[in-house]
Order: sequence, then C-alpha cells, then structure tokens
Amino acid sequence: MFQINRICCIGAGYVGGPTCSVIAHMCPEIHVTVVDVNESRINAWNSDTLPIYEPGLKEVVESCRGKNLFFSTDIDSAIRDADLVFISVNTPTKTYGMGKGRAADLKYIEACARRIVEVSNGYKIVTEKSTVPVRAAESIRRIFDSNTKPNLNLQVLSNPEFLAEGTAVRDLKEPDRVLIGGDETAEGQRAIRALCDVYERWVPKARIITTNTWSSELSKLAANAFLAQRISSINSISALCESTGADVEEVALAIGMDQRIGSKFLKASVGFGGVCVCVCVSHRESSSIYISKYLMDEGAKLHIYDPKVLKEQIILDLSQPHISEDPLRVSELVTVSVDPYQACQGAHALVVCTEWDMFKDLDYEMIYDHMLKPAFLFDGRRLLDQLHPRLQNIGFQIETIGKKVTTSRIPYTPTAGVPRISINPEPPTKKTKV
Ligand code: ADP
Repeated sequence: MFQINRICCIGAGYVGGPTCSVIAHMCPEIHVTVVDVNESRINAWNSDTLPIYEPGLKEVVESCRGKNLFFSTDIDSAIRDADLVFISVNTPTKTYGMGKGRAADLKYIEACARRIVEVSNGYKIVTEKSTVPVRAAESIRRIFDSNTKPNLNLQVLSNPEFLAEGTAVRDLKEPDRVLIGGDETAEGQRAIRALCDVYERWVPKARIITTNTWSSELSKLAANAFLAQRISSINSISALCESTGADVEEVALAIGMDQRIGSKFLKASVGFGGVCVCVCVSHRESSSIYISKYLMDEGAKLHIYDPKVLKEQIILDLSQPHISEDPLRVSELVTVSVDPYQACQGAHALVVCTEWDMFKDLDYEMIYDHMLKPAFLFDGRRLLDQLHPRLQNIGFQIETIGKKVTTSRIPYTPTAGVPRISINPEPPTKKTKV
C-alpha cells in the first residue's frame, strides 16, 4: 500500500487550516505543510493570533506547529515534497461571463492544478477539499492529462469537508463521516486506500465512506442543500409564529422530538450562517454581512462591534462588489467600534446577530440610557431570549425571530436624518468576518 508521509495543503483558509491542523495533531508521524499565497494569513497562522477563531483550534495548532505542522508561502517546495496535496482554495461566485452571480468560479482550483503539474515529479495523490460543483475533479484531471510528463503520475480524489462553524475542531476530531471519492480503476482504489489509512488513525472505519468521485462531490452539495432546506423551513414556521403568537422554539421542540424529523438544525435565525447554502454556488456567507448591506442600502449609519474580527477585514467584506457598489460609501456609513457600549451610543437600534455569550452579560441599562428613544433591539439569533422580559422592563422595543415580544409596539418612524444602527455580528468564522 502507498503510504502518505508528507501532506501539502494549498489554501490556509477556513477549510484548509483547521483540517490540516487536526490531521497533524492526530498523526504526529505525518509531516503537514499548509501553504497560501496570502502572506499575512500565513504569518497569522504562525503567530499567537490565528486568523480563524474556533474553540480548541489554538490548542491543536500549538500542540504540533513547528514539529510536524508548518505554515508557509513556499508553495512549490511544499507541493514537490508531498505525497498528498489537498486543494483547499476558495471557490467564489463568478463575477463575470457565463454563470455570473450564480456559478462557482474554479479559477483558483485550476491555478493550483497547473502549479501542481508544473512542479511535480513521480506519484502524488491530489485531493479536492474545497466545496466544488460536481465534476470539478474532471477539470483538474483534464489539466493533468493534457500536461503529461515522463514519470509523473497524479491521482485525483474528492474528500469534501463537512465541518460547521463553531464546532470545526470537534467535527474534525469526531466526524459523523469521512467521505472519499475516487476512480473505480485499480489506481484510483489504491489512492483511496492510502487516504483512508490517514483517517483510520483516529476515525472508526465504519465512519469512512468510499464512493466514486461524482457521488462524493454531489453528496457534499446535497448535504448542504438538505441543511439549508431545514433552516428555510424553520424560518418559514418562524414567520408564522410571529403572526400567530406561537413560539418557534416550542414548535421546534415539539416537531424535533419526532425521530423521523430529529431535533438538529431546527433553530430559526436571521440567516443560514454556518453552512454553504447554495448548491453549486457555494458561499458560506455571513448573514450579518447581508443585514449590513440591507441597512446600508437604506442609508443607515452602522456602528459595528466584533470581539474577534479586525476592522480591516470588516471593511473589506462590506466593500465586496456584491455587497456595496461603492467602497467610499462603506467608509462613509460604517464605523467599526472597539467597544460595544461605544457602538450603541446614540443609536436608534441595536441588532444582535451573534451567538457569543458575552453579549448576554452586557450592561443593557447603560446601553439603553445612551440610545435614542424609542430604543429598538433586534435579537436576530434569539441569543437574549431569557433576558427579553428584563430588557422590556428597561424599555427596549424588542423584535426577535419566531415570537412576538413587544406587544404594545410603537410604530418605527425614524426621526430626521438617517438612523444610526449598532450591529453585533455573528462570531467570526469562515467568511463570517463582520
Ligand atoms: P475556504 O473557506 O474554502 O477555506 P478561504 O477563502 O477561507 O476559503 O481560504 C482559501 C485560501 O486559499 C485563501 O487564504 C487564499 O489566499 C488561498 N488561495 C487561493 N488561491 C490560491 C493559490 N492558487 N495558491 C495558494 N493559495 C491560494
């Protein structure tokens, strides 16, 4: 059996970074190098402040960084030395040509395939980890097949990642399943076996599924679609709850106890956040970015507070062409605050789109005192559920998902000038940076 001793992962993002850190942690005898074109991202992986926050990730990285886990910008050397190359680069939505605004742009994946074929010799297993449209492996293989070299033998596998934001390390250490797809040829099966051997060091064999390449690619997209459907369904029920007086949490509990339905992924919220929701146009994009877009389109001045994400990243995310056509407008409308109390000062409304517990412990009396009245509070993830009665007593006009809170509602008519809104965004995760 071919033994994988050295792994190179191209792309130190949300998928590549945590996945390869956990592989290195679980397999101390495998040498893992994560590479990226983005030097500041690599520097962050090599520092005390990792570019991604996930519970337990820092401990995992620190346990093996510099021993068998390395982060580097020397992409060619890492590819050349590796037995297995993961491609974990981003697949953004196309902004041009056919499929613009819908299809996944495979240009970064194809650039990796070209680089691999150029610098490699001998036998290597190339594995797509990024979420890709079905038959993306074909475009990798086509690049390999049309650039043959003597002694070069590149096998292509699909091994999609199913981690969820907030539980990435646990999902990687104790996955529900590991999916590996490859060719049905003897060569393909040999490559599958070699990758199975890596995972079998910590994942029970029964949880490692092997399929053909296309089933593997499609399973990832289908799983995302099913999860998105569940959230869409509970969000629709949530709207019904708001107009009928039912409480969506009670409804979710009641229907989730039916074993055919199950209780997971029945939490109503302001957006999908946390899974790739679009089949073939995969973006895990944060709902707080879209809420910000909506509010900016309405001319609202936003004061954003996030305990983890850097100001530059927040501004960059909001300046993406599909969020704001004019980056200057972002700098006019958006202020990033370093303190939640400062962000709420003089605001008409406070929008909470996070699940971070620290927001439960804020001094809401003080916040209320410094907001304009009526002071609106939009609890987009029902983080403050238990506090709603107290917050109402303080005087907040509360709106939440899936239940009526404030009954004697004062109609919201903004006073002169543009409303000032304060946003506490979602936790920082892959593409959840605001
Ligand atoms: P994902 O969520 O799929 O991990 P991210 O956007 O978080 O996506 O990360 C993808 C990473 O891949 C980025 O850090 C980007 O710089 C990197 N990347 C994209 N193209 C290349 C390439 N050709 N070579 C090396 N790194 C790349």
